[in-house]
Amino acid sequence: MAWWSRTGGLATEQKKSVPKGIWTKCERCNTTMYEDDLVENLRVCTSCGHHFRMSTDERIQMMLDGPWVEHDERLESADPLGFRVDNKRYVDQVKVTTRRVGSGDAYRAGTGKVGGVEVELGCFVFEFMGGSMGSVVGEKITRQFERALAHRRPAVLLSASGGARMQEGVLSLMQMAKTSAARSRLREARIPYVSILLHPTTGGVAASIAMLGDIILAEPDALIGFAGPRVIEQTIRQQLPPGFQRSEFLLEHGMVDEVVPRNQLKPTLERALRWFTAPPARAVTPGADPAVDAGSSDDAP
Ligand SMILES: [Zn+2]
Repeated sequence: MAWWSRTGGLATEQKKSVPKGIWTKCERCNTTMYEDDLVENLRVCTSCGHHFRMSTDERIQMMLDGPWVEHDERLESADPLGFRVDNKRYVDQVKVTTRRVGSGDAYRAGTGKVGGVEVELGCFVFEFMGGSMGSVVGEKITRQFERALAHRRPAVLLSASGGARMQEGVLSLMQMAKTSAARSRLREARIPYVSILLHPTTGGVAASIAMLGDIILAEPDALIGFAGPRVIEQTIRQQLPPGFQRSEFLLEHGMVDEVVPRNQLKPTLERALRWFTAPPARAVTPGADPAVDAGSSDDAP
C-alpha cells in the first residue's frame, strides 16, 4: 500500500473511533470538547468563545427564572395560497415539522419571570423552517405585545430567523407591519420592549420587529441584516468589509446597543428590566431642567 493511502486510511479510522454525541468539534477553532462540558458552558466553545446554536428549549430555560405559562400553542397556519414545492403541500410540511420539532410553529411565547420581573417573553424557533415568520408567528408576536400592554409587563423577544416565510407569500410580509404596529402601541403606553438578536437574524424579521427594541442586545458574531452578504456584493459589485453584518460591526455602526456574551445575557437583561421598571428616584421639581435631571441618573444599563 502506498504511503499516502495508508495515511488516509489512518485518518479515517481515527474519525470512526470518535463516538457520536460524546464529543463535539468547534467549527471555528477545531477544538474537541466533551458534549457535557459544552452544555454546561451554555454551548459556548471553552477554547475560542464561539457561540454554538442553542435549542429553543435550552434558550427559554436559560433566560427565565423558572417555568413559564406558554400561550397560543395551538395556533396553526391556514395555508391560504395552497402552496406546494416539489409536489409537497405546505400544510403537510408544517405537520411533519411540528412532529419533528415539537412546536406548533416558528415562535413560542409565554409569561414568566426574569430577575423577579414578570415579562412577556417570546422566542423564535429556528429549528422550525428556519424560524421563518408567517401568519402564525406574526399573530403570536402581536398577542404577546397585547398581553404586555394589558398587564403592563415588559416584552422581551429573542430573534433567530431567516426572515419572512415564502410559503405564505405576501401574508408573511404583512406580519412585518402587523407586529411593528403592535410594538408601537407599547411605545405609546411607555412599556419597555427589549429585543435580543441571535444568530442569524435576517430578512423581514431584521427589517421589522427585531430592530425596534428600546434596547437591542446581540450575541457575539451573530449574522444580522436584511439581504445576505453574497446578494449585496453581487448587487453593488463591491467587496464588503470584514465582519460585515456581524453583531460587532452593527454595534460599531450604532444599530445595536450592546454585544453580550451568552453567559452575560440574562444578567444584562435583568439589569435593563430593573432599570426600566424601577420607580422614579425622585419627583422633578417644577421649573427644573428635565434634561439635567435625567442626566444625573447613573444607573442606566
Ligand atoms: Zn472554538
